[in-house]
Amino acid sequence: MKPAAFEYHSPTTAEEAVNLLAELGEEAKAIAGGQSLVPMLALRLAVFDHLVDLRRVSELRGIENRGDSLWVGAGTTHATVGRSEDVRRAVPLLSRATPHIGHFQIRNRGTIGGSIAHADAAAEYPAVALTLDAQLEALSPRGRRTIAAADFFTGMWSTALEPDELLTGIEFPVWHGRSGFAIEEFARRSGDFALAGATVAVRLDADSRVERCGIGLFGLAPTTERAAAAEAELIGRRVSEISADEVGRTATAGLSSVPSDMHGSGDYRKRLGAQMVARAWRRAVDEAGND
Ligand SMILES: Cc1cc2nc3c(=O)[nH]c(=O)nc-3n(C[C@H](O)[C@H](O)[C@H](O)COP(=O)(O)OP(=O)(O)OC[C@H]3O[C@@H](n4cnc5c(N)ncnc54)[C@H](O)[C@@H]3O)c2cc1C
Repeated sequence: MKPAAFEYHSPTTAEEAVNLLAELGEEAKAIAGGQSLVPMLALRLAVFDHLVDLRRVSELRGIENRGDSLWVGAGTTHATVGRSEDVRRAVPLLSRATPHIGHFQIRNRGTIGGSIAHADAAAEYPAVALTLDAQLEALSPRGRRTIAAADFFTGMWSTALEPDELLTGIEFPVWHGRSGFAIEEFARRSGDFALAGATVAVRLDADSRVERCGIGLFGLAPTTERAAAAEAELIGRRVSEISADEVGRTATAGLSSVPSDMHGSGDYRKRLGAQMVARAWRRAVDEAGND
């Protein structure tokens, strides 16, 4: 099927783009890489009279190392994120998540802002943003604001963004010190969305006790989740006394509504999720230096 007819707008600044979105109202939608929106338009799951294309808005693109944080423009493609040496050094979890996203062609067009704004519960970047405590920068005709990742993902495909608000960039804190990061996911084929996935970031103190940690769960619940209760239980414990399987079980214990689908029952996916957390935990702790 082909999308219904729409009027195409191509602003060159973010301000122009948000003013257009405000002026055109709910008949308008921003489009970035089109890798999620175009299939929805083609299947007529979404119909908009106006599309506001962000591709010519250069201020939305780029990667900037700010020392204690790394800023990634919302319009930066997955491929650029994946190739960036700055990302690899400062935010390894983001770098490692990228190859799991779809295929080469999708990563060449899809953008980090599009992925986070689309908020698919099985997507990798929302889980990375939650796990690392990223800050999401937004712009509307009313001005700029910053939203903590923890407050951003509000439900199935829904976020705290207003309809006339654009994501302009994502600020990832750099976790200094004895830190380790890992992403694990199970998908039927390479490039498919995960049936279950987990992201882990951990920082240890000089005594090998957990000083800070983040555990993200994706592909499991209606929205990306952070396993906050499991994280709280880990803080202050010596890593050599923590069983990875226990971390997996605790992190997934609170998931009540794991959906069943043609690929597996909810119960199977929950157990798969526990395995993904356990694997990611082991790798992250190894990287942090478990002595
Ligand atoms: C075959 C296939 C496989 C895929 N596999 C994966 C996968 O394994 N993992 C994964 O994470 N993703 C996967 N994707 C999705 C891919 O990552 C998309 O690129 C991404 O979800 C959306 O980014 P986009 O730039 O293409 O956004 P678009 O499709 O252009 O837009 C998506 C939504 O985000 C909104 N939006 C875009 N930019 C902004 C902004 N700056 N501010 C506010 N709203 C904005 C749009 O209005 C729209 O609602 C896959 C896609 C395909 C087609």
